[in-house]
Amino acid sequence: MTPTKTKTLLRTPAARNKPQASREAWKLRTSENGIGFLQVPAFSAFPWLAHGFSISQGGVSPLNGSKVLNLGFTEWDARENVQKNRKLFQSALNANEFALVSLKQFHSDVVCDFSSTPKEPCSGDASISNTPNLSLSVQTADCVPILLLDPKKRSVAAVHAGWRGTLQRIVEKTIGRMKMEFKTNPSDLLAAIGPAIGGCCYEVGTEVAAAFLSQFANAPEWFDELRTGDEPNPLQWLNQFPPGHQPPPKNVRLDLRKANRAQLLSAGLRPQNIFVSDLCTACRPDLLFSYRKQGSESGRMMSVIGIRGENKSSRK
Ligand SMILES: [Zn+2]
Repeated sequence: MTPTKTKTLLRTPAARNKPQASREAWKLRTSENGIGFLQVPAFSAFPWLAHGFSISQGGVSPLNGSKVLNLGFTEWDARENVQKNRKLFQSALNANEFALVSLKQFHSDVVCDFSSTPKEPCSGDASISNTPNLSLSVQTADCVPILLLDPKKRSVAAVHAGWRGTLQRIVEKTIGRMKMEFKTNPSDLLAAIGPAIGGCCYEVGTEVAAAFLSQFANAPEWFDELRTGDEPNPLQWLNQFPPGHQPPPKNVRLDLRKANRAQLLSAGLRPQNIFVSDLCTACRPDLLFSYRKQGSESGRMMSVIGIRGENKSSRK
């Protein structure tokens, strides 16, 4: 199911130097219908769970001369292609019988509870549920997708965290809702932080750095360089610009996955229960969609998690 070739695909130069354990934390699988997706073995260990992070490979959507697995309704793609792709993805995850619930994402901190009476569409950026045969999903093309699993209370969550959602602590708030609704103990939770734009590529304005610094004590660890745009320019007489016409300060780079991992830790998760993909969407156009890289021609990936029903034969 995971030939050596696929493992190599998943390893960036940085990952090759990491301990074996982190390499083994993610698997690239290809289903019989040709759909590639990423899974975390620690999640796959539960036979009553379906989960996966889609990649761009497989699917029926035509893009730049090839076919891709676009799972979001975009202007360049036909609705029926997306619906077909979603069916293919569900089938790849062996979750044909699941109802796929999606969110109207708007970079908020709103958590939708799909436990008792799933109401669609729900506007929000995270969903929680303990109802079987429901696929919770988030769509991304650079933002951070996070799947949460409480194996003890048999409940799950899917979270979409861009910089705005991260700043608003969407993942911490989702865990708060799981505590309230399912009596989740955060130290039982497993978390998978999927492919997203990395600290290598994600440039943001210094005003974003300033916003993070005002909210998080450890924010400096998430930026390549700590600048908020308020710094005096010591070199202002050493360039060719007249005084008062200095170029605006350049951007800083933000590592959103680090920021979300820190939030998971501060919410009470154990470090060994947090699995972070090191695939950067902007660095890997061969495998992933990146809005920053591909612009309006970018597809959308989907991250899905759901609980299998009682009558499922695979249940232990
Ligand atoms: Zn990158």
